[in-house]
Amino acid sequence: MALLQISEPGQSTAPHHHNLACGIDLGTTNSLVASVMSGETKLVLDQKGRAILPSVVYCGSKELLVGNDALDLVTKDPKNTVLSIKRFMGIGYSEAREFKNLPYDFVDFNDSILFKTAIGNLSAIEISAKILSTLKQRAEGALGGELKGAVITVPAYFNDAQRQSTKDSAKLAGINVLRLLNEPTAAAIAYGLESGEEGVHAIYDLGGGTFDISILSFTKGVFEVLSTGGDSSLGGDDFDNLIFEDCIDSLNLNNLSATQIQTIRKLSKFAKEELSTKEVAEFSVEGQSYKITKPQFDTLSEALIKRTLLLTKRALRDADINIKDVKEVIMVGGSTRMSEVRARVGEVFNKLVLCSINPDEVVAKGAAIQANILVGNKSRNDVLLLDVLPLSLGLETMGGLVEKVIHRNTTIPITRAQEFTTYKDGQTGMSIHVFQGERELTKDCRSLGRFELKGIPPMVAGRARILVEFQVDADGLLSVSAKEETSGVKSEIVIKPSFGLNDSDMEKMLRDSVVFAQEDIILRQLQEQKVDATRTIEAIDSALKADKALLDDAMLKSILKAREYLSSILESDNVTLIKNATLDLEKVSSKFVEMRMNKSIMSAMQGHKIDEFN
Ligand code: AMP
Repeated sequence: MALLQISEPGQSTAPHHHNLACGIDLGTTNSLVASVMSGETKLVLDQKGRAILPSVVYCGSKELLVGNDALDLVTKDPKNTVLSIKRFMGIGYSEAREFKNLPYDFVDFNDSILFKTAIGNLSAIEISAKILSTLKQRAEGALGGELKGAVITVPAYFNDAQRQSTKDSAKLAGINVLRLLNEPTAAAIAYGLESGEEGVHAIYDLGGGTFDISILSFTKGVFEVLSTGGDSSLGGDDFDNLIFEDCIDSLNLNNLSATQIQTIRKLSKFAKEELSTKEVAEFSVEGQSYKITKPQFDTLSEALIKRTLLLTKRALRDADINIKDVKEVIMVGGSTRMSEVRARVGEVFNKLVLCSINPDEVVAKGAAIQANILVGNKSRNDVLLLDVLPLSLGLETMGGLVEKVIHRNTTIPITRAQEFTTYKDGQTGMSIHVFQGERELTKDCRSLGRFELKGIPPMVAGRARILVEFQVDADGLLSVSAKEETSGVKSEIVIKPSFGLNDSDMEKMLRDSVVFAQEDIILRQLQEQKVDATRTIEAIDSALKADKALLDDAMLKSILKAREYLSSILESDNVTLIKNATLDLEKVSSKFVEMRMNKSIMSAMQGHKIDEFN
């Protein structure tokens, strides 16, 4: 006999099931995993009780080693011990070669990089997957079951290629990525800002080697990254260096060996960390004693802290936010433990900064909270997270110009479409070339990919209506489609560029867009004028080919003269000259245009009675 179901329709008979999920902070130096356990967000520890997994992978033996085990081999076998793999995600061979003083051997694989290791060639995705699978195993061991999914954090400035590589890496590690989450957004969630008032928040993230500032807004239950900024080569290491140099100077140390330098660097770092809680730090080198007080260290740090504050103000300007309108300031990254950093940031914003959660753990914890919602353990209408596009996206138009379709700092996900048309009569195909960057000319931007739209029905130039749609999903991945509206022919690509940008390239691109702004506008005007002039010449040529017979000698001569003149100055850089010559050619040809129109009306009317047209 069968049992009867006694629950109401739509109501589950199963007891409440808790899905296992975790948040992963996949960091450049260290990685962490956290999970919500019995309602509390905690870091997941390894079997030795450690939370931090150094992001280091040893590839010198068949069994890859990860974390502390690999860290021990950095000096013994540097070629096979990969540090900071995050910096290599989604970048090309040429870009990887630009990193200085690396011990690794690289192999160029279709302009993506492979690390040549003792066990064969490995991609950054494969190496990073090893870190992720270690964290997955740790989480599954501690939580006692298979993970339903994970939220993985990435820097807000990560581009498509870097995000896609992170996803691919997780897939390889057997992790179901619930979503990629921007690091600053994760920090805001860890502080529960989504349950507070609406407003704008700043996330100040000063780590070991990098500084990132993000401006977030929270409205109608939605987080939105309004802008990002920072410096990829400013971090705790620079503060260590201040003490290192002061020590060398004041103790008059010369001709130090590499080991001595390493030792002093280590001692300087300890001293710096000590000064976060003490008034004085001391150590001895080569029998001499070095001492530094907190006020002395604060004076030394002045310039570095000032630079972070300058970048903070720039990000606020980018977001069009007044500093007094910022509600909360969150401190992230180990270097925000420096009391002077907290004090100076607080001074600028005129408020106490949020630093109650350990600044190393805050990102992983926020990701864990979000993962817990996404696997259905909590109401998911709590937070919908929106991010921002770090660089503008656009496509190439005639004259090597970039037409921006989605501007930088636009909130994602987003879909934006723009209409384009054909340049030539009878044009049946169009190359859609997608670019990323802030400059006006394609040569100064970064090509993301290209595809062809074929099968456009032959029409006169300018008649076809080609709708190009850019779609950026919640993870920052871009797909572009092009459709000719009158015929319906369509073509599309998903952009997964094989190489990406590191954040110093990105900063350079942004800086250049400001430095060259005026020059770019002038170049754009010139290019546009040249395209206009070329089109006029081509239109005249095709009209002459068809209807030269309509012209008398004098008219033909003046048109040809104006055409030749325009053609001869086309390569000059004088925009006014080209503009005037184009206008002149149009003027001397206006009668001819009128004659051609009359002719085509006459031929259209031939054989019809006049009242058919009424
Ligand atoms: P992160 O990349 O966020 O792990 O930050 C690492 C940086 O934080 C290193 O430069 C550390 O020296 C620095 N750091 C860690 N603890 C402290 C501390 N108590 N005071 C100052 N800096 C610290």
